[in-house]
Parts: sequence; C-alpha cells; structure tokens
Amino acid sequence: MSKIEALNLIGSTPMVHLKTLDPKPGVEIHAKLEYMNPTGSMKDRIIAYMIQKGVEEGKINENTTIVEGSSGNTGASVAMIASTMGLKSIIFVPDKCSEEKIAIIKSYGAEVIVKPELTYGKFPAIKASESEDYYHIDQYNNIYNPEAHYMTLGKEIWDDMNGEIDAFVAAASTGGTLSGVAKRLKENNPDIKAILADPEGSVYKPYLEGKEDYLSYIESFHVEGAGKTKLCATMNFDIVDETIAFNDEKAIAMVHRLAREEGLMAGGSSGGNVWAALEVAKRMEAPAKIVTVLPDSGFKYLSKIFNPQWLKEVGLGHLVK
Ligand code: PMP
Repeated sequence: MSKIEALNLIGSTPMVHLKTLDPKPGVEIHAKLEYMNPTGSMKDRIIAYMIQKGVEEGKINENTTIVEGSSGNTGASVAMIASTMGLKSIIFVPDKCSEEKIAIIKSYGAEVIVKPELTYGKFPAIKASESEDYYHIDQYNNIYNPEAHYMTLGKEIWDDMNGEIDAFVAAASTGGTLSGVAKRLKENNPDIKAILADPEGSVYKPYLEGKEDYLSYIESFHVEGAGKTKLCATMNFDIVDETIAFNDEKAIAMVHRLAREEGLMAGGSSGGNVWAALEVAKRMEAPAKIVTVLPDSGFKYLSKIFNPQWLKEVGLGHLVK
C-alpha cells in the first residue's frame, strides 16, 4: 500500500483574516481554509490519520473494505484514500446529503448507500459485522478523530496565529474538530475560549445547557455536516466554554457574503462558524483575534446554497440576490 502524492497535500491550509468582517478596528476574525484539502474538506486530515493507525494496528490490510457513515465529507476522504491504496469502500450518507457530495464520493470510487437522516448512522456497524474484511472507521467513536485534529489542525492554527488567539469557534458533528483543536490551544494557553457554533435543531446546545429533554430539541435543518441528533464519544463537552446557536438563514446569508465580499467559496457550516465568530467578535474589546474554520467547499453545494430555485423552495428566497 503505497503513499500517493495527494496525501502529502493534506493540511497546511491557508489562514486568512476576514477583513470585511472586522466589527471594530483591532478585533479580527481569522479563518482556516480547510476546504483547500484535496477532497475539499478537513475530513482528509482525520481519515488519513485513522487509516494509517488502522494499518499500523493490523486492522486494515489489502483485503479490507472500509465502511463508514458520513454527512458526505468524510465519505469523500475515505473513498479517495481507500481507492488510492487499492482498497474498496462503502459509504452510508443521509438523504439530505447534496447530490454533489454523493457524486464526489462515487467519483473517487466508493459505493454510496443513501439512508434516512435520523437512522443512517447505525448502518455502517451493521454492514461491518457481516464480514471480517469490513473495517468500520467509526468517526463518531474513534478517538483518533479528535487526536488527528490535535496533532495537525490545532498545531497549525497555533503556529499560523503565532499564539495570538482569544477564542476558537467551530460547529460540531463528531466534535473531533472542536475537541482536538481546543485541547491543543488550551494546552498552549488556558485562557483561549472554545466556542461551539451549533445549528438550531442539534442536541448539543440543549445538552450543554443541562436540559434533560435535550432529545426533544431535534429538528431538521438544511446546513450539512454540523450539529448532531445524539451525543458522540468523540465530542469533549467539558472543553466547551460557550455555545452559540445559528440557523440556516444566518449561515447561508454569511456563506453568500463570504463568496461576494471575501472571495471565499465555502459550505453552509462555514457560514454558521463565521456568523458565530462575528457574534463573539462584536462583544470583544481590541485587540482580539477570533479563529474559526471553513470546513468544506461551497462547490459541494452549488445545487443548494448557491441555487436560487432551491433557496426559494426552502423558504429562503429573500436571500437570493
Ligand atoms: N462542517 C462540515 C461541512 C462537516 O462535514 C463536519 C463533519 N461532519 C463538521 C462541520 C463538523 O466537524 P466535526 O465532525 O469534526 O465536529
């Protein structure tokens, strides 16, 4: 199993100052362009790391088929890395997954199986139990997921900013990004705040607020990849200092703004992240630096977030410019 060139392109993504968003002089939002990873999302980092660990630990060999559940981005990373290693992969995605993301996963050579949003997560484990040759990566429980972000993304963010960071803001699904990055940043400077940007309809915010009926807050929303309908082992709730809720309208309006004002084509969760980062920035005194991530590419959502027809269909027609 050889190491192909594309794997060397994972990580070391650019960090940009979103200058048009500065709420006041000296209060800055910086964003790590994770969509610049080879398959267009930060998930390349965790999958490269987890597959390498799987090989080292003897769980992955040349007969392995990798099985995974994914909102679409992890699936692309698994498909790309598995195929280039000569391995097969089967990806379960929720029915809200954009057609672009499904096409991307298939293009890298994986089999894609679409399942209902609320239940798709249980199918990879069922599939993996069918044969010893199936290996379930399990990003929602695999502790190498936050560890990958601790080792790579968290370190890069610290280095990019020369340690000048007041808060890190990120949405969570597995929680790998927020948990891994925040661990690294807080180890370096315990004063850095870790802020969860959570879509309305996710259980994380009500859970963190101590609501016993947090499951009753589940609602469907359109932003993909962020938020969760159950708690995950990879999410470190203890590390979260504050949670800010966003909705589709706020996230998508910010995505449009990022494209037109900053020239950055990012996905819906990027809009949620930046919107929440701006909320944090507005109440900070200068000098302050807030860091966030743009997890995936807007090119994965041309049929949705950037499609006037779709926006009208989902009641967001007023965002069409
Ligand atoms: N944004 C997007 C677009 C994603 O695909 C994901 C992961 N599903 C996230 C944010 C959340 O990242 P994490 O799983 O590391 O919490």
